[in-house]
Amino acid sequence: MYPVKDEITKVLTALPEGVRLCAISKYHPAEYIEAAYECGQRVFGESHVQELQQKQSVLPGDIEWHFIGHLQTNKVKYIAPYISMIQSVDSERLLREINKQAQKNRRRISCLLELHIAEEDTKSGLSVEECRQLVASGILDELPGVQICGLMMMASNVDDDEQIAAEFHKAHELFLELKQDYFAHDPAFKECSWGMSDDYPLAIANGSTMIRIGTKIFGPRVY
Ligand SMILES: *Cc1c(COP(=O)(O)O)cnc(C)c1O
Repeated sequence: MYPVKDEITKVLTALPEGVRLCAISKYHPAEYIEAAYECGQRVFGESHVQELQQKQSVLPGDIEWHFIGHLQTNKVKYIAPYISMIQSVDSERLLREINKQAQKNRRRISCLLELHIAEEDTKSGLSVEECRQLVASGILDELPGVQICGLMMMASNVDDDEQIAAEFHKAHELFLELKQDYFAHDPAFKECSWGMSDDYPLAIANGSTMIRIGTKIFGPRVY
């Protein structure tokens, strides 16, 4: 087994105050999650509903599961009873469905709005302008089952540190703008989820409060 305990311990001990780790366990077996759990880790991120369902059913109940992948509206109902946070909200339609399923389960589901700043078209998410418009539209006030806790984004997959840092900075600027204009009195709006295995130090330098690390902790994924 990959030295999960050694790797996660390195990451956890180097984590600055105010930054949490979401351990991205997609494509890795339950035993790897258990190893990280034994080191005290409780927040795990998955990107496929079926895989998450399977893991959630066999792993400890105090794990906080975060959904980080593209989420189809017709699958929200499966994770709504237990999901701690949906980080990948990229449309009003999805938000409305999360609201509906949260209410059915008598819960309020924490969500992050996923921003698309990276150059790759393959990455999903809202543009800066779409994100602004969604918040400004006032529809969030009509969705009592949804708690917007901040923003999530992925930087471009490039070697250029300056470009990556600039993308994180742009996301952080938007976060600060939205915080000031719409969420100044909402302490729940506080999360900046950015930083992955290859770029998390740059993310932490640019406002991240939650890094999402998979490969560095669990090793290469086998698809
Ligand atoms: C897979 C994934 C990660 C983790 O990436 P690593 O490079 O393995 O650390 C983080 N965020 C999202 C949205 C992902 O899909």
